Amino acid sequence: MIQVLDSTLSNMIAAGEVVERPMSVVKELCENAIDAGATAITVEISGGGLEMMRVSDNGSGIAPEEVETAFLCHATSKISKPDDLTEIRTLGFRGEALASICAVARVEIQTKAYGYDLGAACRLEAGEVIYREETGCAQGTVITVRDLFFNTPARKKFLRKDYTEAGYIEESVRKLSLAHPEISFRYINERKEKIFTPGDARLENAALCLYGKEVARELLPVRNDYEGVRVEGLVGNISLYKKNRSMQTFFVNNRCIVNRAMAAALEEAYKGLLAGGCFPVAMIKLFVDPASVDVNVHPAKLEVKFVNESAVYKAVYWAVKNAISAQKITPMLSVQPETAVQEKTEQPRDIPQPQQDKPPVQRVRETLPLQKYMEPPQPHIPAEPSAETVHMVREETTPSRRMDPALQQTLAAFLEEQQQPKETVKTDEQGIEPPKKDNAPPPETDKAEKPAAAAEEKVQQTGLSLEQLHDYRVIGQLFATYILIEQNGKLIIIDQHAAHERLIYERLVQQRGKRAIAPQQLLLPEVVTLTPVEKGFVLENLSLLEELGFEAEDFGSGDVALRSVPAEVETECISDMFMEVVTLGMKNANSLTPEVQERMLYTVACRAAIKASKILTQQEMEQLVDEVLKTPNTLTCPHGRPVTVALDKTFMEKLFKRKL
Ligand code: ADP
Ligand code: MG
Repeated sequence: MIQVLDSTLSNMIAAGEVVERPMSVVKELCENAIDAGATAITVEISGGGLEMMRVSDNGSGIAPEEVETAFLCHATSKISKPDDLTEIRTLGFRGEALASICAVARVEIQTKAYGYDLGAACRLEAGEVIYREETGCAQGTVITVRDLFFNTPARKKFLRKDYTEAGYIEESVRKLSLAHPEISFRYINERKEKIFTPGDARLENAALCLYGKEVARELLPVRNDYEGVRVEGLVGNISLYKKNRSMQTFFVNNRCIVNRAMAAALEEAYKGLLAGGCFPVAMIKLFVDPASVDVNVHPAKLEVKFVNESAVYKAVYWAVKNAISAQKITPMLSVQPETAVQEKTEQPRDIPQPQQDKPPVQRVRETLPLQKYMEPPQPHIPAEPSAETVHMVREETTPSRRMDPALQQTLAAFLEEQQQPKETVKTDEQGIEPPKKDNAPPPETDKAEKPAAAAEEKVQQTGLSLEQLHDYRVIGQLFATYILIEQNGKLIIIDQHAAHERLIYERLVQQRGKRAIAPQQLLLPEVVTLTPVEKGFVLENLSLLEELGFEAEDFGSGDVALRSVPAEVETECISDMFMEVVTLGMKNANSLTPEVQERMLYTVACRAAIKASKILTQQEMEQLVDEVLKTPNTLTCPHGRPVTVALDKTFMEKLFKRKL
């Protein structure tokens, strides 16, 4: 029998789309407050929002006779005729939020509209009004939502721990405060104030309150007008970066959105200026004619489409490019120290902050496929420093003094071929690579690659028996990257980074097999500042992280303190390594399978391994070679690139035309 669902049931179904988690409630209620013209909004939560969420505003309020209507499905004051749909200037317009929230929680509302002496107070449960009175109250609206999902237990199961849910809420309030610096936001979690912004309409002041002065002073203003697209905002100068994209926020007409063209334009503008694995910090606001943007593509209204994506791309690209070009540019590979600034939410403490004076990490960066939007650089903009970059890499990868240049060249060409198998080769894992022009796929895509097949007869993977292995002679180091050894009539070339990485990885895997990785206590805890969602992830996965060797604990505010790290790890790159592990984990937060955990181990191994371009002593080389030769599974690095290749005598003879 076909029947029309009653409103309670259909609202519960609609709620599934609108109210995914506590954060969605806070976002919808704040958006209503913004639409109501509020200049101050307070968000209070407890129990990760599941227990209680309250949003208070000083906006227009709802007239007493309209309060119940507001909670009906498709009840909205924001549109009334089809034409309104093409010119939406409010955040809400579907009239679904209050009805949906009310269908899956217990809701109280207190509201007083302009021009009324009294306000109304109402209590609703599962969509039904169960109490109502007239009351004296302040101008504006207070909505309290309790026991979210009390009548839909299945939904509740999909939620994460309270602090993760609270993290999502905080992140959402942060974005709203950046979107609306003209509104003063206050966010209180478990009675503690976490966010307060002044509401003075200045984005830089909102950013200062959210991220602290260390970050704020590295931010550059962005401003541009291009074919009807106005761009405003703040971007980090090139010494401010983050190990993931969590500090990139994009807005269109003051709505926080996701859009590929904007994200791509941002990263392209930093091309060659930030090392691989480092991502710019940015808050970019676009103002366009509402008719030229479709905000309807996603139920959560996050992803937008532009009529003219290419204009958007260019507008953002040049806005950012000009902002950073106005600064003194230090190319990525210069010898000048780079300040690794982390997101900061609080004043410095007694405990030393993460080392800020590391030399730049040199890696090929991950880039997005942008070509379709790109135009040749405009002449007044300084050219990208890529030529310089290549030049500098060459200089830094100290050429060997022990070899004839011609032979070196042949070998280099040969090695390059070996290092770039046809299948996916990860760039991110190689401390520094020889200069390459191409861009490799991002780290996540590389799990299944195989080593380059050593097909040509002249090249074989070593594959020697154990007895044979111990009889070798280290010839020396080539390009500060490869160790050359002579063994059984062969020249064996070992990639020092790949080999070391593999060794560490094998050790970690072995220890992991025995449950936990040996931790190394740090003399001083390393304090890492995280976004609320990152911190939520860490706190939720303390025991997994501990099994991987990272002992972390809550250190107040946005910080965690690392007490120990895997024993294999050199201590200078701890926070970067930790961030990479966390970022990887977060991408797979819903299923931290053994495979994902294994990839976390790769990350540790990669960071812990000797970098390419490091000059090794004879003793260090021998130690490494000894270990490589005696450890099984060392023919490829964990990413599948070869660790060793061998050239036999016949190959050399052919090379020198002794034999044809
Ligand atoms: P929408 O925002 O899509 O219109 P909602 O369900 O979120 O739908 O809200 C329904 C209506 O209730 C809104 O159109 C608005 O008139 C009114 N309303 C909701 N929250 C507030 C508020 N904080 N202040 C004033 N009016 C509000
Ligand atoms: Mg709304």
